Amino acid sequence: RKTRVAVVFGGSSSEHEISCVTAGSVMSAIDTDRYEVVPIGITRDGNWVLTSDDPRRLAITDGELPAVEHTGEELALPFDSTSGLLVVEPGAVPRRMGQVDVVLPLLHGPFGEDGTIQGLFEMMGARYAGAGVFASAAAMDKVFMKALLAEQGIPTGGYVAVTNRRWQRERKRVLEDIADLATTVFVKPARAGSSVGITRVPDAADTDAVARAVEEARAHDPKVIVEAAIPGREVECGVLESRDGGPPDVSMPAEIHVADGFDFYDFDAKYLSTSSLTIPADLPAEVTETLRRTAGKAFDAVDCEGLARVDFFYGDDGGVYVNEVNTMPGFTPSSAFPQMWANAGLEYPELIDRLISTALNRKPGLR
Ligand code: ATP
Ligand code: MG
Ligand code: MG
Ligand code: MG
Repeated sequence: RKTRVAVVFGGSSSEHEISCVTAGSVMSAIDTDRYEVVPIGITRDGNWVLTSDDPRRLAITDGELPAVEHTGEELALPFDSTSGLLVVEPGAVPRRMGQVDVVLPLLHGPFGEDGTIQGLFEMMGARYAGAGVFASAAAMDKVFMKALLAEQGIPTGGYVAVTNRRWQRERKRVLEDIADLATTVFVKPARAGSSVGITRVPDAADTDAVARAVEEARAHDPKVIVEAAIPGREVECGVLESRDGGPPDVSMPAEIHVADGFDFYDFDAKYLSTSSLTIPADLPAEVTETLRRTAGKAFDAVDCEGLARVDFFYGDDGGVYVNEVNTMPGFTPSSAFPQMWANAGLEYPELIDRLISTALNRKPGLR
């Protein structure tokens, strides 16, 4: 029979809609001669529903973002620890969708990209694509990610971590630390994505502006990171786990050109503008080499599996700095990750195959 693939998408994070767009793209491109898709949407409030796999319902149309509706069959949380397979059989779910062989957790942000759902799959003994529990959690938290990268000697920018406790108890000290960090800073939720909740503050000595930006980030995550702005060009590399146990495969870098009128690559610049990519980025050969080597090192430093997108700054000072590692990067055909692989000769449907076969070849449990 065909390989049954549960495409899990939506979720409770602020990147719900982007996850829907990713899932719609994957479902329209996946090779249906080989795979049978079980589309599982997670509503914003956490219900799992067997949903439509009609990609048109999961696209951005006229600037309107899609969402998982409460219309499908509701699923009890899928569990079958004896068969080692994910079961989506409870209630009225059609029998032909009984068991799935592999899960594609196409979820971004907390409760999807942060190790929590990966933990659920581990408990169930289900095979799933992408990073495991630890790497997902480590890459989602920008403070811990930086610690892991630094430990491997990978350059990243300076930062101040603003935990809930510090913000409640020593706000004045925190604001002083931030004013000392740099002139321009980026204030971010420590664990989010798609630029949600991020503010660029041009003058870190403006404590009112910084405090407002911290509160904005805290609306998404009680833990905040404030980073020194790194002036330079924005580039990223796609990374795939190798097929033979060797070092990961790294794509050529892409350069991001943020559309006019945006201060940085914020949510609207990413998804609702004319921002564009150059692949491969037009860079000196040795910079390209450094980026690719560093991307592979970052993948390993965070203990990634399957895939990752490593975001960099090529600084005006000539340095290469890792901004962040994303364990489930945006995955529409126009997203950077698939484009970088298409440039390397791996077209979108083959890229999906690669993720699925990597996941199928991996035994559940400790690795
Ligand atoms: P995603 O996961 O969608 O890539 P994210 O929400 O994890 O995004 P970042 O990639 O950390 O957020 O930052 C979003 C954007 O903000 C960057 O692409 C860049 O344009 C800008 N930015 C973030 N940090 C810095 C920095 N330290 N210096 C300069 N620009 C920055
Ligand atoms: Mg990110
Ligand atoms: Mg992300
Ligand atoms: Mg990024």
